[in-house]
Amino acid sequence: MATNNERQIAERRIDGEAFVLPAATIAGESLCAADSEVCSRICNAATGETIGWQQHATAAMVDRAVHAAHDALIAWRHTTPAARGKLLRKIAELVEADRARLAAMQMQVSGKPPFEADLDVSDTIATFNYYAGLCEDASAFAAEAVAVPDDALLAERVHEPVGVAALIVPWNFPMVTTAWKLAPALAAACTVVIKPSELTSPTEHMLAAIVSEAGVPDGVVNVVNGGGDVGAWLTTHPLVDKISFTGSTASGRKVMQAAAQDMKRLTLELGGKSALVVREDADVAQAVSLAVGGAFTNAGQMCSATARILVHDNVYRKFMAAFETAVRAVLVAPPQVADAAMGPLISAAQHARVAALVAQGVEAGAQIAFAGQLDPACADGFFMAPVVIAEPAADNVLWTDEIFGPVACVKSFRSDDEAIAIANDTRYGLVATVVTGDEKAARRYKAQLRAGLVWVNTPQLIFPQVCWGGFGVSGIGRELGVAGLRSYQELRHTVGLRG
Ligand code: NAD
Repeated sequence: MATNNERQIAERRIDGEAFVLPAATIAGESLCAADSEVCSRICNAATGETIGWQQHATAAMVDRAVHAAHDALIAWRHTTPAARGKLLRKIAELVEADRARLAAMQMQVSGKPPFEADLDVSDTIATFNYYAGLCEDASAFAAEAVAVPDDALLAERVHEPVGVAALIVPWNFPMVTTAWKLAPALAAACTVVIKPSELTSPTEHMLAAIVSEAGVPDGVVNVVNGGGDVGAWLTTHPLVDKISFTGSTASGRKVMQAAAQDMKRLTLELGGKSALVVREDADVAQAVSLAVGGAFTNAGQMCSATARILVHDNVYRKFMAAFETAVRAVLVAPPQVADAAMGPLISAAQHARVAALVAQGVEAGAQIAFAGQLDPACADGFFMAPVVIAEPAADNVLWTDEIFGPVACVKSFRSDDEAIAIANDTRYGLVATVVTGDEKAARRYKAQLRAGLVWVNTPQLIFPQVCWGGFGVSGIGRELGVAGLRSYQELRHTVGLRG
């Protein structure tokens, strides 16, 4: 967070290139914080440069945003699915039209390579289009007859919007994570208050402007900016009916406690420590490619990072040799460098946190088998070369904890029973990958891996039709798919005499 003095420096820099983003956007109006309020620095993670400042909302602004959403609900909840579908389709079109600018902002803030930044925009478009389609089809919103054992009675089931939803998102896939919440919330006729991460809010500001340009009425989508305190004000506000939170498991616990007071509806998308299993019959080249993608995409800052790689003893040496070659070939570089494959960590603090965890793990006995290298252009940003640990102890922090950086651990196994037991030996349960040439074995892994999404011989493909969410401390509920829509709806049944 910046001091008041730093803010004054920032304001002077507005004449240069740094921008100052407003503390909140409420019912179509941008609100700036008074001089005495805090703001945080927005860095270019690839250079360490300050590119802008994010003002933080006050408690009074959060209250005002929630009231705006509450007031807007009166009219919005009575719009037809078809009307909402039209708006969602329009948002998708406007995001597509702004693709280059949105991807450029993702790169400028997070330092992601161009292909990753572009994929974020594509995922955002796909999500809005998917929920537009559900609205256009309308069957997901229609009253359904429920069979009861009395012909004189008519029983029906309807899905009502849950009300005002607080959407709280982290920094690793800004805009995408917001779209996963915003699109189904609008489809369900909820009104929302979004709380982006203060580190990566620029794309959320751009998305909010697009939503407004698409014609979504003022007050339906509001944004409050800031850190955990701003999020906490939202989660305790009595007029918030539903919280959809993506972030760490530690913060998720606090959100769950806050939600308990008013029994707010809750979706939690939290951390992970996922496994990738390479069977004896795997195509080793494919397994290596999936391991590199699963562990080092977005510099490993993925809840779904498959950072625990389990390799059958009979192919272990072959896998490790090919994995080393592949990891050393990952071009860690700023997005401007042609063929950059891996970007930086999001902040100096995240870099320090990951480096400290690696040091702690090594101190406790973990062996670094090999590491990648940084391009010379990485000198100023928050870059870290990929690190691979071989055979860590089962209680080593690098094996047990979510690192959220480019660190992967590899362990060998001798049987499917052993691999499944090791993969499931965690309180997390977000995703898993299995690489095998045997269909029967694949079916066994799909059935027995304790994870919300299991990929077989594929990269981490994500479709808006396929739900996202985890077992155990990886969260509660599911996003995307029809379940994602239902998470913004209350179920109401009616029973009465047939007319
Ligand atoms: P974080 O928990 O620190 O913060 C996430 C968001 O919550 C931020 O906007 C933050 O300001 C806000 N926040 C923090 N404390 C809060 C509180 N007490 N009440 C309300 N809001 C609060 O997480 P992060 O460091 O921004 O993101 C990394 C974490 O997110 C990782 O653990 C990662 O696994 C998880 N994540 C999960 C998924 C998923 O789909 N399961 C996706 C992306 C990230």
